[in-house]
Amino acid sequence: MRVLIIGGGPSGLKCAFNLLQLGHEVFIFEREPVLGGLARSFELHGTKIERYYHFICMGDTGLINMIRELGLDSQLRWKYTRMGVWRDGKLYPFTSVLDVLRFPPLPPVERLKYLWAAFRASLRKDWSDLENVPAVDWLRQEFGPIAYEVIWKPLMQRKFGPYTERVSAAWIWARIKRLADSRTRFLKRERLGYLLGGSETLIGKLAEQVAAMGGHIYTKAQVDRILIKKQARLRALCGRLRSLGRCHYLHCPLASPYPTAP
Ligand SMILES: Cc1cc2nc3c(=O)[nH]c(=O)nc-3n(C[C@H](O)[C@H](O)[C@H](O)COP(=O)(O)OP(=O)(O)OC[C@H]3O[C@@H](n4cnc5c(N)ncnc54)[C@H](O)[C@@H]3O)c2cc1C
Repeated sequence: MRVLIIGGGPSGLKCAFNLLQLGHEVFIFEREPVLGGLARSFELHGTKIERYYHFICMGDTGLINMIRELGLDSQLRWKYTRMGVWRDGKLYPFTSVLDVLRFPPLPPVERLKYLWAAFRASLRKDWSDLENVPAVDWLRQEFGPIAYEVIWKPLMQRKFGPYTERVSAAWIWARIKRLADSRTRFLKRERLGYLLGGSETLIGKLAEQVAAMGGHIYTKAQVDRILIKKQARLRALCGRLRSLGRCHYLHCPLASPYPTAP
């Protein structure tokens, strides 16, 4: 099978890697000059810096297995991490249960409510009934309106700006769960991982493997439209017009709003 992958971010590269392992022919079109998408890096005085921060949780088994499969386990480091909340010009520790119990911006009852809600979220296994619930409603209901205003609202608004109201509760639950699972027990300290050299190490290795297995990678190749003609003949239109003939295509990220889908 011949597959065109639109987007050379982590999902595009991993899809390419898996498809090549299965013996398919793969073309990646990436519109930027470099691969990596949101996980890419930029260079500052000769040092690569990630565009955004990325960390690995103990329960990210898919990612950890991929790191092993690529032979990068020796580059994986785990660290106990600490978190703080900046409020009214002061930094409050916010990592352990004790930190929450001593957190002055929340009244004592609200601190208990917060911990109970975090504990319940960590026990939940399924996201599906949260998918159509707005995160802001769920957070207010579970953690209480005061904790929402003090803790969650600033976080949500800084991350999503005008889109805050549109974020699903399934997303924020998955974040809470992922971090909760990165503690050996609810009361234990949080441990997070990173790769030496950051996400760039993973992206670089994936790209290297894709190329070594015969995958075709094109950067500065934005796909603007997909034309599907008779018998699924496909043409991806980008700066350099390419016609791939009979071919399947995958859009990575899947939720991209670009009007390429026919
Ligand atoms: C601040 C921040 C922190 C994060 N922290 C973590 C974390 O700790 N752990 C974690 O697992 N995830 C984290 N993420 C999420 C992670 O970065 C994304 O889940 C991941 O990058 C998604 O990969 P992707 O390939 O699906 O999409 P993207 O990374 O968005 O890549 C898509 C690629 O497709 C290209 N593209 C799009 N349209 C076209 C087109 N028409 N033609 C050609 N190319 C196109 C884009 O240029 C891009 O390179 C974080 C994200 C952010 C913003």
